[in-house]
Amino acid sequence: MPNPAELVAELRNSFRSGKTRPLSFRITQLRNLLRMYSEKKDEIVRALHDDLRKCPAEAIVMEIDFLVNDLKNTLWNLDQWARPEYVEKDLANLLDTAYVQREPYGVVLVIGAWNYPIQLTLLPFHGALAAGNCVLIKPSEVSAASAKLIEEIIPQYVDNDCYKVMNGGIPETTDLLKQRFDYIFYTGNTAVGKIVHAAANRHLTPVTLELGGKSPCYIDSSADIKTATKRIIWGKMTNMGQTCVAPDYLLCTKEVEKKFLETATLILREFYGPDLKRSPDLGRIVNDRHFERLQGLLEGGTVALGGDTDAHDRFMGLTVLTDVKSDAAVLQQEIFGPILPVVNVADVKEAIDYLQEREKPLALYVFSNRKADVELLLKNTSSGSVCVNDVIMQLVVDTLPFGGVGNSGMGGYHGKFSLDTFSHKKAILYKDLGLVGEVLGAAKYPPLTNGKIAY
Ligand code: NAD
Repeated sequence: MPNPAELVAELRNSFRSGKTRPLSFRITQLRNLLRMYSEKKDEIVRALHDDLRKCPAEAIVMEIDFLVNDLKNTLWNLDQWARPEYVEKDLANLLDTAYVQREPYGVVLVIGAWNYPIQLTLLPFHGALAAGNCVLIKPSEVSAASAKLIEEIIPQYVDNDCYKVMNGGIPETTDLLKQRFDYIFYTGNTAVGKIVHAAANRHLTPVTLELGGKSPCYIDSSADIKTATKRIIWGKMTNMGQTCVAPDYLLCTKEVEKKFLETATLILREFYGPDLKRSPDLGRIVNDRHFERLQGLLEGGTVALGGDTDAHDRFMGLTVLTDVKSDAAVLQQEIFGPILPVVNVADVKEAIDYLQEREKPLALYVFSNRKADVELLLKNTSSGSVCVNDVIMQLVVDTLPFGGVGNSGMGGYHGKFSLDTFSHKKAILYKDLGLVGEVLGAAKYPPLTNGKIAY
């Protein structure tokens, strides 16, 4: 196992050498990664299947294509994004130049999570690299096949002095976090997010924390129930609900709940056939520990739909729970699996009260044709993102930032926001040293009490 202090020291030396500064060097590295996704596609698909039994189409769309699109977008725009931004000036600085120059922080630590183990580990890597940093990547040990593959292929495609991968579990990550980094980007659960934040704080290291939470899904009677149900089931069953922005629970009236349940039965059959377990489109729960945790959450309410589980195969069908007690664990902790509890509310105002009493989620979903009610929800609730009339799709728009707020995280990334995240925005004022500039700025010189400055 490599020594974390040595790894960080090597990366720091590489950063100091200035190797990552030229845009041409970063563009070459990004192009190499593009080639990697094409040449190693089969290996990536296989690793994702081994870890989560992801079907190849899902692995390609949700992980590889996502990464490829991000790289293409970054390669297309990097030159423009990295340029100095000239800012407005006042009279006193008329002859001077004022601008913002993005500069890399230095050595960045990227800690990935297991649920989209390739995408969530390498997407921040793209941003950190594009901004000119040296990077240490720490994949999640839970998705062991993907972690091993990342460790194997990254050194084949990018500069080994500037970008390194270190695998390991909690003890290794704990050791790693004792080192001084210039930026830490962490994806994972909120409890560990606090550990990472505390470790970063010892060195005043800035962080992005991409955390989780319970993303609510409000549906009212004005929504087209068939379309809404289709979109919600797709979002809940993609990666078996193990998606940070999966709809966690439904908020609706009893009447909408009834229609949802009737429709869900038909949609499930349409999507996955008569036997969900045999559908090649459905993955599996990542490990026995998570499966047992999910099985425990089923206790919280009445199983109104589904409930079929197979511990041996770590399979669970979509399970809708109704009449759930407010203190049930399924309504307290993030579900992160194919269980969908329903919380009944009488109207939008009651939904807003419910949301305001809880932690700020990563996403809020609203299905409604009542514009005034949608506005009420938008204005009176806080969440990392909102998607009206669909789920998850907000994160595909790479001109929108992706990130949480409060308990669901801090900071964001995707597209240009990734470059911003991994760059310090240095303010530069380039003063004119001539006589006119000196006259314009003379008011600041003492003595100040001779009436030069009115007060
Ligand atoms: P995980 O178990 O893979 O942990 C994430 C990382 O933290 C791993 O690299 C792991 O090694 C490290 N880690 C775990 N325990 C640690 C400790 N005590 N000290 C230091 N490091 C430690 O993933 P997870 O946390 O189970 O992931 C699921 C959670 O992540 C969910 O809450 C989900 O919502 C959230 N998530 C958020 C996003 C997002 O983009 N906001 C994306 C995916 C997952």
